Amino acid sequence: MLFRKVAVIGVGLIGGSFALALKQAKACGHVVGTGRSPANMKLALERGVIDSIEGDPAHAVEGADLVLVATPVGQFAAVFQKINASLEPDAIVTDAGSTKREVVEAARKALKKKIAQFVPGHPIAGAEKSGVAAASAELFRGRRVVITPLPENSEEAVEKLNQAWSTCGARTSRMSPEQHDEVFAAVSHLPHLLAYVLVHDVSSRDNAAELFAYAAGGFRDFTRIASSHPEMWRDICMANADQLAAELSRYSKKLGEVKKLLESKDAAALVRLFTEARAARDDWLQRTWSGRKPGV
Ligand code: NAD
Repeated sequence: MLFRKVAVIGVGLIGGSFALALKQAKACGHVVGTGRSPANMKLALERGVIDSIEGDPAHAVEGADLVLVATPVGQFAAVFQKINASLEPDAIVTDAGSTKREVVEAARKALKKKIAQFVPGHPIAGAEKSGVAAASAELFRGRRVVITPLPENSEEAVEKLNQAWSTCGARTSRMSPEQHDEVFAAVSHLPHLLAYVLVHDVSSRDNAAELFAYAAGGFRDFTRIASSHPEMWRDICMANADQLAAELSRYSKKLGEVKKLLESKDAAALVRLFTEARAARDDWLQRTWSGRKPGV
C-alpha cells in the first residue's frame, strides 16, 4: 500500500477524483476529507470517495502520510497555516492548484521549516463541473500532472508523489513555478477569461435574448469553460494576475492586427492566419488528444 492515510482538504472535482483513483487502486488505507459544504461532504462519504469527514484540517492531517490541498487557491494560505502544527514528520503535502508561484510563497510562509515536505503539483485535467458529484476515478487517466519541485524537496518525496499520480493513471512532468504560471496563463487562464468575458458581453446587451436564441455549436464550444466555478477562477486570475495581464495585452494587440485586416479587406492575410491556426490546432489535437474524448 502506497499510503496509510490520505487527507484531502477540499473534496471537490479534483480532490474527490484523486481520492477515488487511489481507493480504486487500493493504494491507501484510509481517506479523510475536509470540506466547506456539509452537503458535498455527505455526498463524498455516500459515494465512498472518502472514509471519514473531519471538520478541522489540523485534525484531518494527524496520522496522514499524504495531504492533498484541493480547495480554490485563495484558501491555500489559511489551510497551510491550519495544518502546519499537526503535520506528521513523514507526511508529504501536495496540492492541485492551478497556479504555482503564489501557492509556493504561501506554503513557505506557513510551513516554515517543514517546507521540504511540500511538493507542489497541478493535474492538467479537469472540467467546468465542480463538486464531488462530478468526481471520477478516471479523470486523470492518460493526463499530465505538472510537478514544480522545490529545492528543499528530497528526490524520495518527489518520487512518492510521482507514484501517487501514476497510480491515478497520470504521468508527471516537471517545471519551475515561474515557468508553470507563464505557460498556463497562455493556454488555460487566458481562454477561461475570454470565455467568461464573451458570454458576459453578449448577455449584457439589450438584444441578449435574441442573440442567445441563435447562438449555436460554435458559441457553445467557445464558451463551455464559462460554466466553470467563478470562485475558483477569481482566485486563479488573482494569483496569476501579472502573467494573465501580459497575455491579455498580447492578445489585444493581435486582435488589433486582425481588425486592421478586416478593415482593409485583406482576405489573403486572413485566410493565411486561419489556415495556420487550423494546422496548429489539428496537429495539437492529433498529438495530445487522439483517441480521447474532448470536453474535459
Ligand atoms: P471544486 O469546487 O470542485 O472543489 C473545491 C472544494 O473545496 C469544494 O468542495 C469546496 O467546498 C472546498 N473548499 C473550499 N474552501 C475550503 C476550505 N477553506 N476548506 C476546506 N474545503 C474547502 O473545485 P475543483 O475543480 O476540484 O478545484 C480544486 C483545485 O484544483 C483548485 O485549486 C483548482 O485551481 C485546481 N484545479 C482545477 C481544475 C479544474 O478543471 N476544475 C483542474 C486542475 C486544477
